Amino acid sequence: MQEKKLMDETISAIATAPGEGGIGIIRISGEKAISIANKIFRPFAAKSIEEYGYRMAIYGKVQDEQGKIIDEAICIVMNAPNSYTCEDVVEIQCHGGSIVMREILSLTYRMGARAAEPGEFTKRAFLNGRLDLSQAQAVMDVINAKTKASLQMAMSHLSGGFSDKIKAFRNDILSIIAHLEASIDFPEDDIEGMDFEDTREKVKLLQDKIRKILESASTGIILRDGLKTAIIGKPNAGKSSIMNLLLGQERAIVTDVPGTTRDSIEEYVNIGGIPLRLIDTAGIRNTDDIVEKIGVEKAYSYANDAELVLAVFDSNEELNSEDEEIIQLMDNCPGNVIVIMNKMDLSADTNNDIISEKIKNCHNARIRGIVPMSAKSGEGKDTLENLLKDIVYGGHTDIVESQVLCDARQGEILRQTANLLDDTINTIDMGMSEDFIVIDLRSAWEKLGEITGETIEDDIVDQIFSNFCIGK
Ligand code: GDP
Repeated sequence: MQEKKLMDETISAIATAPGEGGIGIIRISGEKAISIANKIFRPFAAKSIEEYGYRMAIYGKVQDEQGKIIDEAICIVMNAPNSYTCEDVVEIQCHGGSIVMREILSLTYRMGARAAEPGEFTKRAFLNGRLDLSQAQAVMDVINAKTKASLQMAMSHLSGGFSDKIKAFRNDILSIIAHLEASIDFPEDDIEGMDFEDTREKVKLLQDKIRKILESASTGIILRDGLKTAIIGKPNAGKSSIMNLLLGQERAIVTDVPGTTRDSIEEYVNIGGIPLRLIDTAGIRNTDDIVEKIGVEKAYSYANDAELVLAVFDSNEELNSEDEEIIQLMDNCPGNVIVIMNKMDLSADTNNDIISEKIKNCHNARIRGIVPMSAKSGEGKDTLENLLKDIVYGGHTDIVESQVLCDARQGEILRQTANLLDDTINTIDMGMSEDFIVIDLRSAWEKLGEITGETIEDDIVDQIFSNFCIGK
């Protein structure tokens, strides 16, 4: 009810990225979109935008209440339901300066639109049935894709790949339910094929399919959100240099230029299609000494927080107490660890055997490999890349094709559905009647609907869309 009222309002927002650009787009959606556009936009070659057909690029000027020209622009009208939101939508393509865009935006507000909330255009597309929830989420995944592989998966979700799978699972459940209900309603008719062994098999088959998706879900989550990565090592081991090598450019160097750190504490690097989310890159650049300057505790918390730890050692120097400390830290962190023996170009190799020996004594760490590297020459980067692929894809290189790009919520729903199907199987095994089996199956059917948004609470929908950007 409240959604309905909100949907009655016309919304507007700047749809292009914040900051300055060649072109900026102001998007208006809702009942009043076209009348607002008529008030603020005058085509050069006609009296009003209505003289043009829909979806035409109309060249004209944007002007305020007093007739003062704010900008020259292109206006495109997309009438309901043939628009992104299924409502009347107007897009004004103006010059991409922040002042000009803000002026036009506030003009739309004065003419009756209100500021769109984050993700509200896509939320309307969802509420109006143009996209299901999983597709709506894929819109953000397309925008936020960190690598080609994540983009490929997001696009497959957007075009309904994942939704179709979920819908097929739900249909499978419904047909099992229909069969069971027929036997409840007409117990005297011996429904053909109706035996619990058959039902059990069907449920099991479905559960296997869901579990198969779950197996690859963690890869999907990594490709979507990035593998949280910490680079640790003593001062001068080459952490910043390794990071720069991974970033593929020199822009991150800060060691000898004090105070030139960037604000961002997270940065993504794309290693062989796998996005690594580097933790506190600013921190690493900011200090020569991750253990001393930011404190052992902080270094521990990075390492503990990370899904992947890159432990960097200087292969050209004797192992010292700081290295020992890093080894200890590495041994106690829960994520995967890759040991990087840096500065191979200097090739003294003093450290390698000693480190390898020490690593054999690291019983807790999930050490996935020791990579001789040179941040200077780039040697070893390929080996690192292969090791990463092995960690993420577990040896399946074709995984992207069949991959689903689950987020944590979707993964959890699939897990819960598989558990509910376990309950169903137990109910069958306990010899309970059809009614009880149907109850279990219905719960699984409803649970799955939370992925596509067919059975979901409003506040969860709100929460999902609140993570979107404004204007999307
Ligand atoms: P951090 O303190 O661990 O971040 O170390 P830096 O990345 O700032 O590197 C410390 C010094 O080692 C710098 O002078 C780098 O140029 C140098 N260095 C880093 N990696 C290599 C490498 O692979 N080979 C050589 N020869 N020098 C390196």
